[in-house]
Amino acid sequence: MRVDFNVPLKDGVVTDDTRVRAAIPTIKYLKEHNAGIVLMSHLGRPKGDGPEPELSLKPAADKLAELTGYDVKFVDDTYGDKAAAAVAEVKPGDILVLENVRFLKAEKKNDPEVAKKLASYGDIFVLDAFGTAHRAQGSVVGPAAYIPAVAGFLLEKEVDTLTSIFAEPERPFVAIVGGSKVSSKIGVLDHLIDSADTLIIGGGMAYTFFLAKGYTVGTSLKEEDWVERAGEMLKKAEAKGVKILLPVDNVVAKEFKDEPGTVVASDAIPDDCMGMDIGPETEKLYAEAIAGAKTVFWNGPCGVFEFENYQHGTKAVAEAVAEVKANGGTSIIGGGDSVAAINKFGLADKMSWISTGGGASMELVEGKALPGVEALLDA
Ligand code: ADP
Ligand code: MG
Repeated sequence: MRVDFNVPLKDGVVTDDTRVRAAIPTIKYLKEHNAGIVLMSHLGRPKGDGPEPELSLKPAADKLAELTGYDVKFVDDTYGDKAAAAVAEVKPGDILVLENVRFLKAEKKNDPEVAKKLASYGDIFVLDAFGTAHRAQGSVVGPAAYIPAVAGFLLEKEVDTLTSIFAEPERPFVAIVGGSKVSSKIGVLDHLIDSADTLIIGGGMAYTFFLAKGYTVGTSLKEEDWVERAGEMLKKAEAKGVKILLPVDNVVAKEFKDEPGTVVASDAIPDDCMGMDIGPETEKLYAEAIAGAKTVFWNGPCGVFEFENYQHGTKAVAEAVAEVKANGGTSIIGGGDSVAAINKFGLADKMSWISTGGGASMELVEGKALPGVEALLDA
């Protein structure tokens, strides 16, 4: 079973166990059905020239044992005789974690030898590593070519959730996209304009849209090369009857610092100021639009939420999104910083689904197929 145990470590200890927790339902199911389980994952970005002790999967294996109470074995080998010997010892109900699959360069290149070797460890391949499902790498797509292959519960839930909002969302479908750059969210914005009823824009990317509308934005984050594209999106949305909401007011500052800012209208940003957050009128406008939604997708914070002085807009939006589930609707969150913001505000429990994948969830939201999922479908 390929899991995503790519967890952050500090001094050999797992500092965020979200990904280990996310894999437990499938592991538990397999164990309760008496499967012998061999788990594999990558962790970090090793060079691929051999073991790097600080990127060992041992701490993740220990975390799994701690969270489940199961006896979890670990072997400090992945493709060699030592790994094969440990796998041969696996009995029904046992759990064995192999060492980091990326200690060998061939893994990332999807070398057939890697795929064959990993496939030889089991009778059935389970892919549950949603966070890596967008990578056509040996341990993700390889074994499916040699043995029967199925999706784990996490992969299934992530793919179903992030594709169903585009297939048949309960309407109104309101999408919120923020974060720093238009350029990194082009595919997401385009696909959302194709399916959402309302698209709310926040964060640094709003200023490139302002330029497209002919406003000046002072020293705000902006991408001159993307102004034309942003303008095309506004036109496309208008032609399709999709409502785009942009900030009507902003909290601006002279410097990128965690100090109180000033509220100004969107068409009155001073030349020596930069937009740091959405303003109070915008918070109200966005909260009203979100309140009417049956389906909400959110990616990207609405301001520089890492600064106490500029988290207010993101928090207001998070609180509005939290109400959607309470009122019987569906709220889906994707993206590393957006998820961090929601955790910071203690609102994670109030959302319908928080995606565990960064890149993989964005590729689904862009409407792309994931190589890991394609490999299962071909198997
Ligand atoms: P996600 O990880 O959720 O996809 P992004 O990585 O696209 O989100 O963007 C998050 C970053 O955007 C945060 O670090 C935040 O500080 C930054 N950001 C938000 N609003 C602004 C702004 N007005 N100016 C500069 N940076 C901003
Ligand atoms: Mg990010």
